[in-house]
Amino acid sequence: MPDTPEIRVESIQRKSLLYRSGLGFHCINHVLGCSHGCRYPCYAFLMARHHGRVRDYAEWCRPRLVGNAVDLLDRELRRKRTLPRRVHLCLTTDPFMVGHPEVEALSLAIIERLNRSRISVSVLTKGRLPAALADRRRFPCDNTYGISLVSVDEAFRQEWEPGAAPAADRIAAVRRLHEGGRRTLAHMEPYPTPGVFEQDLDEVLASVAFVDEIYFSGWNYNPRVSEERGARASYARAATIVREFCARHGIEGTVG
Ligand code: SF4
Repeated sequence: MPDTPEIRVESIQRKSLLYRSGLGFHCINHVLGCSHGCRYPCYAFLMARHHGRVRDYAEWCRPRLVGNAVDLLDRELRRKRTLPRRVHLCLTTDPFMVGHPEVEALSLAIIERLNRSRISVSVLTKGRLPAALADRRRFPCDNTYGISLVSVDEAFRQEWEPGAAPAADRIAAVRRLHEGGRRTLAHMEPYPTPGVFEQDLDEVLASVAFVDEIYFSGWNYNPRVSEERGARASYARAATIVREFCARHGIEGTVG
């Protein structure tokens, strides 16, 4: 079993870890909160506040590790009669949170443990994917390593994703894993309407032209978008651009 990384930040204990999400796939969220503090707003933050798991945005931005995550996962995998084929990290936090090496170490330990049971992993981050993920001896399964990216403009990141890594760093990290022969993904959601942020979609797409998969979808949970005139038409145009781009570059494209 991979060692539980030394935990120096505040931690919580949970009774279970691996679960099947309402979206139909298995997930692990081994951190409560996320220092990236996205302001779209972040749906995970809204839910955590609604259920009383965090008081406010400031508390959300101070992540707490699930201290018993590796032990729990090991026990759950040994007890399960049928193992999932794939597990996603994460739906309600970020597995490679900027400035939190303890989160990174725990995420790597979890991926290693899952791969040891031949369960592949899909990863999504607004941080920097570690180069270690290219190591086939430690991570032998056909994992998918994804970045969340809706803009390459630093002004956008500072306004909407203040704690996340700059787009250039995310792209460089996922490119390194692509060059290391791993499957990669660009998750383009929530894509901003022109009323939220004016930008060139072609430029964003060109920055990730090397990935295997692109997922593109709109901007939810913000009345500013639902009330914006022309937002629907702008998405329809953007969706066409994404589909054509993916077809031209041999990328598996999905428009949500
Ligand atoms: S990176 Fe994801 S989990 Fe973290 S604040 Fe942003 S949207 Fe929420």
